[in-house]
Amino acid sequence: MGAAIKRKSSPAVQAHADEPPFKKILIANRGEIALRVILACKEMGIQTVAVYSEADRNALHVRFADEEVCIGPAASSKSYLNIPQVIAAAEVTGAEAIHPGYGFLSENPHFVEVCQACGITFIGPNAEIIRKMGNKAQAKATMQEAGVPLMPGSEGIIETVEEALVVAEQIGYPVIVKASAGGGGRGMRIVNNPEELPDLYNTARSEAKSAFGDDAVYMEKYLLEPRHIEVQIMGDLFGNVVHLGERECSIQRRHQKLIEESPSAALTPDLRKRICDTAVKAARAVGYYNAGTIEFLLDKRGDFFFMEMNTRVQVEHPVTELVTGIDIVKEQLRIAAGQKLSFRQEEVVQKGHAIECRINAEDPFKFTPCPGRITALHFPGGPGIRVDTAMHQDAVIPPHYDSMVAKLIAYGADRTEAIARMRRALDTLVIEGIKTTAPLHRRIMDHPDFISGGFSTKWMETFMEELKRDPVGDPR
Ligand code: ADP
Repeated sequence: MGAAIKRKSSPAVQAHADEPPFKKILIANRGEIALRVILACKEMGIQTVAVYSEADRNALHVRFADEEVCIGPAASSKSYLNIPQVIAAAEVTGAEAIHPGYGFLSENPHFVEVCQACGITFIGPNAEIIRKMGNKAQAKATMQEAGVPLMPGSEGIIETVEEALVVAEQIGYPVIVKASAGGGGRGMRIVNNPEELPDLYNTARSEAKSAFGDDAVYMEKYLLEPRHIEVQIMGDLFGNVVHLGERECSIQRRHQKLIEESPSAALTPDLRKRICDTAVKAARAVGYYNAGTIEFLLDKRGDFFFMEMNTRVQVEHPVTELVTGIDIVKEQLRIAAGQKLSFRQEEVVQKGHAIECRINAEDPFKFTPCPGRITALHFPGGPGIRVDTAMHQDAVIPPHYDSMVAKLIAYGADRTEAIARMRRALDTLVIEGIKTTAPLHRRIMDHPDFISGGFSTKWMETFMEELKRDPVGDPR
């Protein structure tokens, strides 16, 4: 094993009212989510082990963990995705459990099985659930059986262009061809007519093959101006499943979320109840436990359709934490240790409003990645502002990983106050040395469509056209 391990002297664990669910866990991730898990562990009196690639030697998750293990070179495939190295790091440090964060190994059923075989607790659901939900075509079939409303589409995988043409004709154009193993907005093609279909079907398959190692695709009706509404679920090993309300994630670019909020301005109390109850039903249908998210598309008539389930903590979980007061990561740790959910459905109340802006190291106008060194940094604070980040002065953003550098989250008594606080936070955010999407977010916070809450997943496209006429400038 090439893992270099270094132990730091750490202060004795404080006495806690509750026994910590674990003594020591390893976090198989990097960046803000690794740090987020470490913070939860510090509060709970759990020792932490960070793993890192050679590109992340100076990263904050490494500095703030109790122990650290280098697991390989910069490339994810050789470090954060390297199962033998991650497991070896857990064994050598005596970590009882592994928190996978999101991305990397978080939805890899094989990794879960390896953990189990090595006697290490995986902080998430079991391999069978992940496998069932990770294959989107299979997940849809499972949801159909459970009576969850589905988008009209193919029954499972589409094997040939001829079959694709027949199914598209049945459901009506436009349609969307999606990778069954897909994620991160990749492997999807929108098809407007039969002439386009053969080429787009084939490119979707080859993109799926190169991105996910699996060229299986399926098809569904493409909704023109839907809203993306998702429901946070938590379940324990005793069969208790609850929801923590919805998140609105319609502000997206190229099918990737930019801004998320909770609650959604689009839901009436009745619709909220129906969509959240449906999510609980969907989770129960697969015997779900730990944290998960059921994603739906909502059309203009108020009909909603199951899209997919993510079997891990989401990037946007903080907005739910702020409006419910529930610490999702701590709850994940308790559930993994076999404890009962610490709250009942009746105790979950959405109070106030929270908005999250993903600050990416990108050119805000062209959306091209901008890795580099941060020369000056100041994060906003003050009432109602939370910043989840692993950035620090002089940090170098490696080109090997995703481009998110911080999540800026604003909480207010209502949506208007949350927006006002987000504006003020963006105005007092300083990140120099790299370009970020912060100026773009600042513009969105002033836009009448955003302020009114009347937007769909299509909105960013129109907004980008507006921006072409009036490019983003740094407001400072
Ligand atoms: P991924 O797992 O790659 O994130 P999803 O299935 O969650 O993919 O879809 C991502 C986004 O793509 C959705 O939030 C939505 O904006 C868009 N999308 C997916 N399916 C449809 C559809 N049938 N109609 C309209 N938009 C869709």
